Amino acid sequence: MKKIAVLGSTGSIGTQAMDIARANKDKIKITALAAGSNDKLLKEQIEEFAPSVAVLADESAAQRLRSIYSGKTKILAGEESLCEVAAFSDAEMVLAAMVGFSGVKPALAAINSKKNIALANKETLVAAGNIIMPAIKQNNVSLIPVDSEHSAIFQSLQGQDRGQISKILLTASGGPFRGKSKEQLQKARVSDCLKHPNWSMGTKITIDSSTLANKGLEVIEAYWLFDISYDNIQVVVHPQSIIHSMVEYSDGAVIAQLGLPDMKVPIQYAFSYPERWFSDFDKIDFFTLGQMTFEKPDTDTFPALALAFAAGRAGGDMPCVYNAANEQAVNDFINNKIGYLDIAEAIRYAMNKHQVNKTPDLAAIMAADLRGRHLVREFTQMLCE
Ligand code: NDP
Ligand code: MG
Repeated sequence: MKKIAVLGSTGSIGTQAMDIARANKDKIKITALAAGSNDKLLKEQIEEFAPSVAVLADESAAQRLRSIYSGKTKILAGEESLCEVAAFSDAEMVLAAMVGFSGVKPALAAINSKKNIALANKETLVAAGNIIMPAIKQNNVSLIPVDSEHSAIFQSLQGQDRGQISKILLTASGGPFRGKSKEQLQKARVSDCLKHPNWSMGTKITIDSSTLANKGLEVIEAYWLFDISYDNIQVVVHPQSIIHSMVEYSDGAVIAQLGLPDMKVPIQYAFSYPERWFSDFDKIDFFTLGQMTFEKPDTDTFPALALAFAAGRAGGDMPCVYNAANEQAVNDFINNKIGYLDIAEAIRYAMNKHQVNKTPDLAAIMAADLRGRHLVREFTQMLCE
């Protein structure tokens, strides 16, 4: 029985993880659940999975839950309690599936309490990779990627000599705006961004997918997970999302992982690793698949990808500023304060204004996050004047 705590259990990744737990009741025991403010769904999950503890970050939502739930699960409230649950529940693995920078502290608390991490929350690694990776090593725990591309790379590395990797080929669907020009995107609205061709995901990552900031975050995520230089990470647009990523070795062999676009496969693999478990998910039928195509990413129309490479190469706290600026800019776009194309310009503005600190500690990372957000608010303010 694998004991698993799920942080972000009410979200897109979280609910798919609960589906996997439901289908594998003989293999998985859910020991803790955490969400932001969705008390209704969390209550249903508590009643079905009976974890020993559950947390809502939002205090008033936790209050509502306490007033309608009287079972055995202990209900906690607030951001601090998230760290407590990540660290002290009897889970051996924590699925980090919260969205954004708020995942950093709970992830660290889990690692420092010797829990293995199944990582969906890529922003955590982008912002604080220089703190997270040494903590993983020091505590001798595993970090298993859930992001489909990184899971594909992780699977393509099994049994191979890592010293012989020549390149990581990170595939990208290109998102809903692939092939569009800047002029066509000037007036793009949130609802246009949410029409992703292949994946159904949470709002923030779907917008990131449309700007290619998601692929930018994934480049930095790959740098930390696989200890590879930015020169050896190549983004390849593959609109069908069948090849989830590839590794090229020094002899020219390329190993890839393929499958239909379904996040349940990488989530389940993170839970089952090093084993594989049976699933009844839909499988590829190569006869009906048709063709697979590949293109270069358009970094003129979607500069957020090139900015991520620049942030990664600058190192230190610059990726944290990139991430914070993107989170704030996406927020401002959702709230109609800036236009779609301003998202990348806001990131550029914040990066240009920030003096990189090459060796940030956790406090400096927290400060860089605040600074990235502040700089974008300044940018937004300027646009409004
Ligand atoms: P969603 O927005 O669908 O879900 C986010 C989850 O986090 C919800 O359970 C939400 O709770 C919870 N949450 C939000 N804020 C807090 C908080 N302050 N404290 C505790 N919990 C909080 O996001 P996704 O599932 O799409 O994405 C989650 C992460 O996984 C992201 O980092 C994303 O980049 C990554 N990812 C997602 C993929 C996908 O297919 N969705 C694919 C690859 C990576 P509530 O519902 O109560 O608000
Ligand atoms: Mg991905």
